Amino acid sequence: MKTIYVDKDIPKSIAVKALKPVWGNAIYSRLSPVHFDDIPEPELPGPRWLRVKNRVCGICATDLHLLHVDADPRVAPVALPGYQRFYLGHEVVSEVVEVGPEVTRFSVGDRVLMHTRFQGANCFSQEIEPRCRMCEAGFPVLCENSSLGEAPRGVGGGWSEGYTAHEAELHPVPDDLDDNQAALVEPLSVGVHTALRRLPRPGEKTLIVGAGIIGLCVLQAVRALAPEAHIAVMARYPHQVEMARRLGANDIIGRDDDPYEAAARITGGKLYEGMFGNRMMLGGFDVVYDCVGSSRTVQDSLRWTRARGAVVLAGVALAPMSADLTPVWHQEVDLIGLNSHGRETWNGQTWETFDLTIALIREGKLHTDGLITHRFPLDQWREAIATAEDKRTGSIKVVFDYFENRR
Ligand SMILES: [Zn+2]
Ligand SMILES: [Zn+2]
Repeated sequence: MKTIYVDKDIPKSIAVKALKPVWGNAIYSRLSPVHFDDIPEPELPGPRWLRVKNRVCGICATDLHLLHVDADPRVAPVALPGYQRFYLGHEVVSEVVEVGPEVTRFSVGDRVLMHTRFQGANCFSQEIEPRCRMCEAGFPVLCENSSLGEAPRGVGGGWSEGYTAHEAELHPVPDDLDDNQAALVEPLSVGVHTALRRLPRPGEKTLIVGAGIIGLCVLQAVRALAPEAHIAVMARYPHQVEMARRLGANDIIGRDDDPYEAAARITGGKLYEGMFGNRMMLGGFDVVYDCVGSSRTVQDSLRWTRARGAVVLAGVALAPMSADLTPVWHQEVDLIGLNSHGRETWNGQTWETFDLTIALIREGKLHTDGLITHRFPLDQWREAIATAEDKRTGSIKVVFDYFENRR
């Protein structure tokens, strides 16, 4: 089984990080903890486990951070024993090919999505009773027992020909969603979860920083769940601007705009400038969704938000940040984070984020057309990754298509 994985090997990670500036391809060298390997088909490690064969899998920025060994050994998640090996790829649609004797949720031939496997173990996948309060509340991604190591790990991931998983780590794909729509359920779920962490109230103005796939998914989710909201999107590339407009952005802040001036113009905020280019706004957006998650974007987002407004941090950073957090106390701005997806309350009902997302796709409120821009067979992984990283290619979502090899 062909598979791409990254070992948690700190000496190798440090070596690759040091070499990268002078040797761009160091991550593909023998010194790297990144491997493209052909491994034996894994056995099912327990009666509630199953094996799947992959159909389509997206390339996500989180995978790319792991691939590039961006994780700083000092960040909090690295302290957790959790995974020693990360099989990359989690936006994956697969077909069940083997089930253990006690699997009840799936049969051979069913199409499934990876649900929580990538984020680590939880009470369900480890069969721990009683479950922790986060699992009980519908947030297995936030499981308090995730690092106990009480159960075997699945082998393989989305960037593999297939993988093994506990049945609790998967989600069924309804028949009326095709593979391409299904492959977008995970990133759209992140958009839905982001929007519902702090949904704009009627008349509120919002800004989405970044128009990559997550920014575009957040845009769609805010548009679907808060149709009255005024949404501005900060986008760098022409194809992102075009897609953001198509998906309902009211305003675009482009790469040639001064973002502080644009934020003041859109919101009526008052812009001030101190020494050394230190700019601050009073007034501003009610909610800013930071879909980049760099020190720079966090610092700016806090300054573009009105007093008592909120910044929702959807971008994933794997290194300690250096950002000025003073607006959090000085302007009482809420800084709200999120991890992937979990459970939502919407229209008086409780939903798993995946189920709400699927319902919104069916209602035509979340769109999948045009988001997948490039497809590659797994063997062309380096080319696929280069295309995903270079937005000048017009890429939005690049996928591995496992039928490309079979055609
Ligand atoms: Zn992702
Ligand atoms: Zn738990």
